[in-house]
Amino acid sequence: MRLMIRQAKCYRSGEWILTDVRVDDGIITSVGDRLPTGDEDEIVEANGKTLLPGLIDVHVHLREPGFEEKETIASGSRAAARGGFTTIAAMPNTEPVTDTADLVREQYRKAGKEAVVNVHFYGAITEGLRGEELTDFQALKEAGAFALTDDGVGIQSAGQMLAAMERAKEVGLTVVAHCEDNSLADRGVMHDGEKASRLGLPGIPAEAEAAHIVRDALLAERTGVHYHVCHVSSAASVQAIREAKQRGVHMTAEVTPHHLVLTEDDIPGDNALYKMNPPLRSARDRSALMAGLLDGTIDFIATDHAPHETAAKRRGFRGAPFGVIGLETAFPLLYTRLVLTGFLTLEQLVKRMSTAPAACFGLPGGVICEGAQADLTLVDLEREETVDPAAFYSKSENTPFCGWRLTGWPVWTMVGGQVVYDEAQGGITG
Ligand SMILES: [Zn+2]
Repeated sequence: MRLMIRQAKCYRSGEWILTDVRVDDGIITSVGDRLPTGDEDEIVEANGKTLLPGLIDVHVHLREPGFEEKETIASGSRAAARGGFTTIAAMPNTEPVTDTADLVREQYRKAGKEAVVNVHFYGAITEGLRGEELTDFQALKEAGAFALTDDGVGIQSAGQMLAAMERAKEVGLTVVAHCEDNSLADRGVMHDGEKASRLGLPGIPAEAEAAHIVRDALLAERTGVHYHVCHVSSAASVQAIREAKQRGVHMTAEVTPHHLVLTEDDIPGDNALYKMNPPLRSARDRSALMAGLLDGTIDFIATDHAPHETAAKRRGFRGAPFGVIGLETAFPLLYTRLVLTGFLTLEQLVKRMSTAPAACFGLPGGVICEGAQADLTLVDLEREETVDPAAFYSKSENTPFCGWRLTGWPVWTMVGGQVVYDEAQGGITG
């Protein structure tokens, strides 16, 4: 399959310029001005739209197996394609938990048949995410596990985290941590701040997260493992990561779009569409996350796409499960709120949504250059649209951004040389 993308705006040698990109059998073979045409099977006229390396999200919940009413590998991967994502990595808190080599293999087999983007799968650190027995890291790695995590819960015992890091270092897997000390979080449902006290709801203090990060940084320093912090939410956490990185700890970190855009002040009363873990924190915390993202303390953005059915999210902060979806809104949300406001340049945003996660986890993609895998996204930076959850490919609609007017929407997504989403052709084509 030979394909030419003509007249797309690409970031090359420090500026956005009109470019042609040639793709042969899934690989980018040429990038330049007015490339010769003639022998292509297909020409894609970009007409000045912006071509990005496919977005990469290493933190999504696809809910299959066990919770297929919320999301499946098929529906979640379609939501990813529509959002401009070409690679995602799925968390192991399914039912059963992805904690054995056979279960990891089964996930890859299913994704091979049903997914329209590249999907990687995490393996659990402990059996059943119970925090008791470590899983067989070597077997998980051989089955293709992307990294190790008990996301959804923190590893409560420091001794167990140390043992996990030592073993992960031996087998060469990254330890990815949901940082939360249960003895501090104590069944809270929102940030332990002004809003929680006004609503009379139990709070989750910022220290519940930061305490684990400080602890784990010491253990990562001792073991030399690659340690990655999920969904950083507080100023104290950003400072802890900054200090650890300055000491040379092999550590990376991610932040979600919702923590970059919202604070506890945006929560309109007892509405669980704003309930996630970690919770939306104070304006001061949000400023620290922005500063951390800008100075490299936080390496990249990941959505923590966490689908839940509407009925479950109607139960208020006390009764509803944690989590919001993000794949289909992340790019326009951040383009509108971070780039159009002048906080980041477009190329800085793309680095944090594609190039950096690829580099941190050794994934293909994240670049547009000769020899790279043809994982590409065309974005219409002029397009303004209102977020409409009814139009999502995701099975769930639990977003706090319903009705937001956003600019800069992905319109075409290519994975390994195959067009999987083309808005002009009616959407998902794969
Ligand atoms: Zn988590």
